[in-house]
Amino acid sequence: METTVVLLKPDCIEKNLSGEVIKRFEALGLRIRGCKMLSATDALLKEHYSHLADKPFFPEIVSFMQSTPIIALALEGANSIVTVRDNLGPTDSAVAPKGTIRGDFGTDKMRNIAHASDSPEAATAEVARFFQDSELF
Ligand code: ADP
Repeated sequence: METTVVLLKPDCIEKNLSGEVIKRFEALGLRIRGCKMLSATDALLKEHYSHLADKPFFPEIVSFMQSTPIIALALEGANSIVTVRDNLGPTDSAVAPKGTIRGDFGTDKMRNIAHASDSPEAATAEVARFFQDSELF
């Protein structure tokens, strides 16, 4: 069993798609271990998107991610990391296939509905980044 982290981004919140996205993950047999709404701070985003910190569009990502609160989910299941990434689709919503969450609901490279951990190492770090032990069930 693996636990992966999904962040429902501001475009997901603004489009009232949180339930739809969670429904898709639950339909895949994934179990919600943790769920919380939060405002992403500058420090949290700098850590979470450290691999993009030197990109020209980084300030835009920060501003987007702070435009509404976000919802963090910890989802458990067999192969949950790959399963969630496959069902989310590629980063650019414009080329994401129909049937994927980004392909069905996303707008572009930045407004792509949700984040998901991309490796076991990232998942471990992200679970600890977004959840305290007492917030996981
Ligand atoms: P993913 O979210 O698919 O793992 P990355 O880790 O490469 O993709 O990027 C993190 C997030 O940064 C993306 O989901 C998206 O919101 C934003 N982003 C990535 N590339 C771009 C870009 N070229 N322009 C604007 N925003 C981007």
